[in-house]
Amino acid sequence: MARIGFVGLGNMGGPMARNLLKAGHQVAVFDIVPAALEGVVAAGASRAESAAAAARGAEFLLTMLPAGQHVRDAWTGAGGMAAASEAGAVLVDCSTIDVATAREVAAAAGRPMLDAPVSGGVMGAEAGTLTFMVGGPEDAFARAEPILRAMGRTVVHCGGAGAGQAAKVCNNMMLAATMIVTSEAFVLAERLGLSHQALFDVASKSSGASWALTTYCPVPGPVPASPANRDYRPGFSAALMAKDLGLAQEAAQATGAATPLGAQALELYRRFVETGGGSTDFSGIIRMLRETG
Ligand code: NAD
Repeated sequence: MARIGFVGLGNMGGPMARNLLKAGHQVAVFDIVPAALEGVVAAGASRAESAAAAARGAEFLLTMLPAGQHVRDAWTGAGGMAAASEAGAVLVDCSTIDVATAREVAAAAGRPMLDAPVSGGVMGAEAGTLTFMVGGPEDAFARAEPILRAMGRTVVHCGGAGAGQAAKVCNNMMLAATMIVTSEAFVLAERLGLSHQALFDVASKSSGASWALTTYCPVPGPVPASPANRDYRPGFSAALMAKDLGLAQEAAQATGAATPLGAQALELYRRFVETGGGSTDFSGIIRMLRETG
């Protein structure tokens, strides 16, 4: 069993660290908000006094932080975790951040480092069924894979530094645009007098099918487990979708890639967040589309 340091025990990090404990690992945890540590310490983790203290003695060092600036500060800022880490440690950042910062931090870390953002949300973190998209050196990936498998069901090595973040923003841009157009189709069907179930029965077996339709259907009824059936409680919040679409647009601008639908999706999700939808599941955008018409 491995000695693991884990920093950032919020909505995602908390249940992820608990799954590492369940798998029998020794986990030292740190968060700037002491209350965030209570659940994991009660589950058997040891409380570290700082991020650097969590790094000492750890074979694997993981972070799950809000955004790029937090990741840069935690790893390479003054008293950062990279400098405090053991020579043979593998460093893993599971936060969703911009590709450029992921590459910059990996280059500055001075140890093998992986970017390993996840999809699957809080439910996936709790159930240990996350998907990890991983960028970084092959040998570090091989060492970290069993650790990631204690928290996830699917672990994909996507390439060198930043490739995990690249996969995450590309996937979520596809998801957002698909969710928007699927929602638009249901609103149009309503105006045309076509029932939700009839559209679902046809499209789910036809060329309009997608994960947004068949697993995460934005209207209540056809897929009983989708957030639409529980008043759009997340799931995956619209605020986080807007964040990821912003990262996708940053990457598109930095590389000169044309992503007109991705840009439009960002605009629509920003508007949804600004008009009070931020804590709603991202499939709740159908309400804004319905009201706009
Ligand atoms: P969160 O805000 O609940 O948790 C972040 C934690 O990091 C907080 O407890 C905060 O106190 C702590 N923190 C911030 N700066 C710190 C520092 N310098 N040192 C130590 N701790 C620090 O956020 P979350 O929902 O757990 O999301 C974490 C990351 O996962 C984000 O990048 C998010 O985009 C990504 N993500 C979230 C979801 C989701 O559904 N919540 C899904 C996929 C990916």
